[in-house]
Amino acid sequence: NRNPMNSYLFLTHLKASMEDVQQTYIMIKPDGVQRGLVGEIISRFEHKGFTLKGLKLFQCPTELAEEHYRDLKSKSFFPKLVKYITSGPVVCMAWEGPGIVAAARKLIGATNPLQAEPGTIRGDLAIQVGRNVVHGSDSQENGQREVALWFKDGELCEWTQEITPWLRE
Ligand code: ADP
Repeated sequence: NRNPMNSYLFLTHLKASMEDVQQTYIMIKPDGVQRGLVGEIISRFEHKGFTLKGLKLFQCPTELAEEHYRDLKSKSFFPKLVKYITSGPVVCMAWEGPGIVAAARKLIGATNPLQAEPGTIRGDLAIQVGRNVVHGSDSQENGQREVALWFKDGELCEWTQEITPWLRE
């Protein structure tokens, strides 16, 4: 193919696949949606330079909330947590980027918002563990698992972000 743009796109794609490009599941919880923080939270990830691969507003059924938080089943707060997550629509997102799993956790901040650093989403926007506005996968494995759990085939978008050369050399 003689189009130099195609070779360029091919090479950047190849390079991205050789880098530590990961996927993570980010979810704006019902309090974040109710409080009108959707744009603010999405902006944090957009401005950082990550790539949005999937996005939807969704009323989560009880069974899905239980499956998502299955590792916390034995905790005393589990029933309250499931009630919280199903109490209104959530915004489900799949984001991609180099090192994104750990980086997203840093952007989000500590589980308890009063312990979260200023500048993080929870540090800036929340005060209680039971209303901490956002979720982010805690490992690469859970990133894969949660993206597959919350999105059906065909709901993710395969696209080339044209500004990538301005974000990564
Ligand atoms: P994180 O969301 O930071 O990964 P966890 O996986 O430990 O944190 O917990 C999942 C979610 O469960 C938290 O984000 C919070 O909404 C809720 N949660 C955790 N601990 C408590 C608690 N002690 N009381 C009430 N809710 C909690």
